[in-house]
Amino acid sequence: MSNKKQNDATLEKKEENLADKLFYKKKNYFEESDEKDIEKCYKFADEYKNFINISKTERETCRNAVEIVKQAGFKEFKFGDKLKVGDKRYYVNRDKSIAVFKIGKNNLEEHGIKILGAHIDSPRIDLKQNPMYEDSGFCFFKTHYYGGIKKYQWTTIPLALHGTIIRKDGTSVNVVIGEDENDPIFYINDLLPHLGQEQMMSNGYKIITGEQLNLVIGGKAYKGEKIKDKIKLNVLAILNEKYGILEEDFLSSELCAVPAYKARDIGFDRAFIGGYGHDDKSCAYPALRAILDTKSDDTILTLLVDKEEIGSEGNTGMKSKVYEDLMDEISESLKCTPRKVRAKSKCLSADVTSCFDPNFPNVYERMNASMISCGASINKFTGSGGKSSANDASAEFMGEIRKIFRDTDVIYQTSELGKVDLGGGGTIAKYVAELNIDTIDIGVPVISMHAPYELISKGDLYNTYKAFCNFIK
Ligand code: MN
Ligand code: MN
Repeated sequence: MSNKKQNDATLEKKEENLADKLFYKKKNYFEESDEKDIEKCYKFADEYKNFINISKTERETCRNAVEIVKQAGFKEFKFGDKLKVGDKRYYVNRDKSIAVFKIGKNNLEEHGIKILGAHIDSPRIDLKQNPMYEDSGFCFFKTHYYGGIKKYQWTTIPLALHGTIIRKDGTSVNVVIGEDENDPIFYINDLLPHLGQEQMMSNGYKIITGEQLNLVIGGKAYKGEKIKDKIKLNVLAILNEKYGILEEDFLSSELCAVPAYKARDIGFDRAFIGGYGHDDKSCAYPALRAILDTKSDDTILTLLVDKEEIGSEGNTGMKSKVYEDLMDEISESLKCTPRKVRAKSKCLSADVTSCFDPNFPNVYERMNASMISCGASINKFTGSGGKSSANDASAEFMGEIRKIFRDTDVIYQTSELGKVDLGGGGTIAKYVAELNIDTIDIGVPVISMHAPYELISKGDLYNTYKAFCNFIK
């Protein structure tokens, strides 16, 4: 090799190093990690799948979370209970949201509370309060969808019925039907393509309308009574025998149709998981596991809340004062001033985000989109238009989080939902931030968000879990 060439080579190498040093480049979990770590990642994914298979509604998720934390030695907390360092407690709010917390030895007024907040409700098809009718050989439930869905996606798929009915005597009965292989399932009709010409010309909102989302629940006539609605009567007789309910009991029920699918690995290499409700169980489950698996001197609080999909409303959504009350209870019980504690508290608002989809590249701005398998995704802000309704986290807090993840080898990325002015969305972040708590959005990128069956990467799920553990550590 001539001297000149050698010099060129050295120069090129130097430039390469300089580029490595100066350029920002996202990392892909599967490229960066060894097989041993990927094995751990796949194991965590298996545990996650088992959890979401039995946790399709907020009530079920809450119930299963209680079981898990009880087994880990957590005791129930009621307002007014005295707390001390080392306590591990959980607080259940109306069976639909749960707060899990550990009291650390660090002073609360100096260190605040480290909060992981996720939601446990997912888009679905709720029943109306007077749902039952018979028409042309079918019996149906009328429904009212919950959350932002593409209605046409919910037709012609197996649906299970989940929920709670309060009978007229005040007793309650839980319903889960359609999950066991031997159970019947439920179904929403769609039009055959042969007659679908007009339908297919209509805009997406109208392909299937809200009032067409009627659930098939029966088709066999009751024999022996000369009445009009024989099929409806037969279904009611079955329901009366099985659940002890009358038609009027639907008035005080919360029943919903959810996809009857189980979560499954996707792809020959099993890199991805298909499942219902990745939004937001793929953040809620890691947030729950993180508080169980992590030792910390700080006080840690995991909030699994309801109603995010309809705007965090009501007394079980993040807008409810109950979560602030709980933080006050913790502070006062430890002889600290709640407002001083909140001012020092920090929160990861754990919610899924949109993942760049090469089949729909036009809605994304590549440089600022979440890429699949590139780790936990931080949204400095959400909202729409000119960041309207966004919790825009500070550069200082962003810097703090970045440093934690860099120091602990968490694979992470930053993103926006999509291109500016194309739409938007919100999370619980701004309601936590209102309490004077530093808050930032972070979560798992999702493909086909809000569809009956969503896709996530195991690498992103695992790194979101690692991000939570290292934040509260
Ligand atoms: Mn969400
Ligand atoms: Mn959502």
